[in-house]
Amino acid sequence: MDNKIDEELAWAAFERRDRSWDDRVIGAVTTTGIYCKPSCPARRPKREHVEFFLDGGAAREAGYRPCLRCRPDEVGRRMPERCAPAAPRSICRRTSP
Ligand SMILES: [Zn+2]
Repeated sequence: MDNKIDEELAWAAFERRDRSWDDRVIGAVTTTGIYCKPSCPARRPKREHVEFFLDGGAAREAGYRPCLRCRPDEVGRRMPERCAPAAPRSICRRTSP
């Protein structure tokens, strides 16, 4: 499967801490060796220090470690979190009353 990442969109998602992107892309910081999900509360690194992966497994294979603040490896296992008020209505509308 050719699952290419659109880095411009991925970076934009990181900049606005978009939770709806948490299960779509992982951002790894080359200067710290840590990878994060888009909604991570940590300060944003410079764009040129970030590379993107489809998931934490790919980032680990490249030698990165998961961020302790946003726990990127738990993405996808906590579905309810994606229905936080900030999430786009697409996913949540169907399940919320
Ligand atoms: Zn993080």
